[in-house]
Amino acid sequence: MNCVFCAISSDAYIIENDCFFAIKDKRPVSKGHCLIVSKRHSPDFFSLSPIEASSLLDITKKLKEYLDAEYCPPSYNLLMNCGARAGQTVFHYHLHVIPRY
Ligand code: 5GP
Ligand code: ZN
Repeated sequence: MNCVFCAISSDAYIIENDCFFAIKDKRPVSKGHCLIVSKRHSPDFFSLSPIEASSLLDITKKLKEYLDAEYCPPSYNLLMNCGARAGQTVFHYHLHVIPRY
């Protein structure tokens, strides 16, 4: 399968848990813009399992702790694009975590 997120090396992981890893976005819209990516190839949020959905909360909080310590942003946007008409360009589940200053 030709999928950019299936090809990400674990060397790029900032943090991980059982179901997800976090990486820096290659075209950040703000300092520290990260993506939380599912380890399983799954097209979008609606195809995550209940266990993955629970694990998503865990890694999102862990990533916030990391970004708070690294950049001290006062605010965040959490963004999911689900489907091409919503702007999704990589069809492997990811959550944008975007620090705002
Ligand atoms: P989408 O529009 O699908 O929600 O966002 C895809 C995101 O993935 C974009 O912000 C883009 O910059 C990022 N991206 C695409 N390919 C790669 C890659 O190979 N590595 C990283 N780190 N980010 C990528
Ligand atoms: Zn994939």
